[in-house]
Amino acid sequence: MKRYPLLAIILLALVGIAICAALSRTVYNQETKAIANEFQGDIQQAAAVFEREVLLNLELLHALKAAMDIMPGMHSDRFKALSEGILTRSPAIMAFAWAPVIDRDSLRRFESVQQRLFKDLKVTERGPEDHLVPVSDRPWYVPVQFIEPLEKNRAALGFDLASEQRRLDALESARDTGRLVATAGIRLVQEPDTQQGFLVFAPLYQGQPNNLEQRRATHYGFITGVFRVGELANQVIGWGDNSSLLFKVLDVTDSERKVLYSNADPEDPRWVSNLTYQTPLADIAGRAWHIESMPSQTYIDRRRGYLPALVMVSGVLFIALLVIYALINLNRNRVLNEAKDKLEKMSLTDGLTNLANRRHFDRFLEQEWARATRLSTPLALVMLDIDYFKAFNDHYGHPAGDECLRAVARILQAVVRRPTDLLARYGGEEFAIVLPDTDNAIKVAEACRAAIEAAQMPHKLSDIGRVITVSVGVCSRLPGPTTDLDELKVETDAALYRAKDAGRNTVVTCAPCR
Ligand code: GH3
Ligand code: MG
Ligand code: MG
Repeated sequence: MKRYPLLAIILLALVGIAICAALSRTVYNQETKAIANEFQGDIQQAAAVFEREVLLNLELLHALKAAMDIMPGMHSDRFKALSEGILTRSPAIMAFAWAPVIDRDSLRRFESVQQRLFKDLKVTERGPEDHLVPVSDRPWYVPVQFIEPLEKNRAALGFDLASEQRRLDALESARDTGRLVATAGIRLVQEPDTQQGFLVFAPLYQGQPNNLEQRRATHYGFITGVFRVGELANQVIGWGDNSSLLFKVLDVTDSERKVLYSNADPEDPRWVSNLTYQTPLADIAGRAWHIESMPSQTYIDRRRGYLPALVMVSGVLFIALLVIYALINLNRNRVLNEAKDKLEKMSLTDGLTNLANRRHFDRFLEQEWARATRLSTPLALVMLDIDYFKAFNDHYGHPAGDECLRAVARILQAVVRRPTDLLARYGGEEFAIVLPDTDNAIKVAEACRAAIEAAQMPHKLSDIGRVITVSVGVCSRLPGPTTDLDELKVETDAALYRAKDAGRNTVVTCAPCR
């Protein structure tokens, strides 16, 4: 972290962005769930309205059957009068029909009676290629005798309802149970297009039969309602082809799921199939119907809010601001650290010679004394003073004096090379060397003196060979209960003075010295 602050910032930013993305995704999923709930609510409502409409229409058939029960003896005018009113008020009912049960022997008579009203009428069934053809020989028939409204449904007149298996199943079930029974979805005889419809049969009996036997014995015909599923749905829901919701009515009574109605093409890619919702309807004259629905992408998009995007964008923005702030801080820290390093260096370095300054020397000496105390190792101190330097300055001038000081520093530095040693400018024309754990401090001191002399820097006013020389005091001490740092300093200084007194350009050690 400390070593790679930039990497840490990038990592944290990535983690932040990942958290934002996860948060945004969660909000998005919540929103999707809410939309799915709203969609299901819409469909439940539509299904309830549709169901009520279907049951209401079945009730009308019930009413017609009740009327027939109390007024038996059917003829076309009576049938017309009874059904007309209902039909005008209920556009979803395509037709009401009356169909008596007749046996094989009565077929011709039935046809001839009917032909008085409708010329060329035959009792028919579907032949090859779906054409209506005269019925084949069967023990009984249920031909449509009256149908209202007649003009639109003429094609169904004479059609034998028992000629087709689906209708026959429903007919028999209605006859045997006395209840209304609906057929599965069928193509209607009177419908030229492929729209699905269904028929509902209401059985009529002589008297009030109570059991199957009596019902079969007294049964004489059916009232039939012809319903178009599409009409029923259109009437109450009215969702057209380009609706944002798909509304499918399925008949699931048999194992196959037969589509009775669909307001739009179910294969259209606009439907979001993973939100498909199915809800069952109440019993429809013995059949089980389901509503199946899907919303379109438009339906979902219209309900989507900006929250997920807002979470993501604001999160990323916030992280970007944090990153910028962190980078600015990082840079400022770097600049500050550099300045601090520089200052620290400056505060510990002598500006003229670039050697350690007096403060550095004092600190270092104290540290090394403490270490030597801890480790019981000797610590040596060397003090050097340039001989007759005042005279040098007076003769050559201060700038030359400065240059001389730098030259002396360079020469001494070349001698004192051990990394644990410290060469410092002690002050003025005096230098000091700290030599931790050194046995041969005198040798180092002598090497320094000799090196300066060997440099042969001219000094006209020096008594010693007319060159720059140094006097050196050296002292080494093993820290102990009776030996302190001040003593080392005083002893070294004293040694230096003795070196001056001894004629300069010489090394003097303190006593006792190790
Ligand atoms: P001795 O042989 O006894 O050491 O005599 P000395 O002249 O070297 O000693 P003294 O202490 O009398 O003079 C030291 C001189 O060093 C005084 C001053 O002019 C000179 N000096 C001290 N610091 C600097 C400096 O930074 N630059 C220059 N050019 N001269 C300095
Ligand atoms: Mg001096
Ligand atoms: Mg001097």
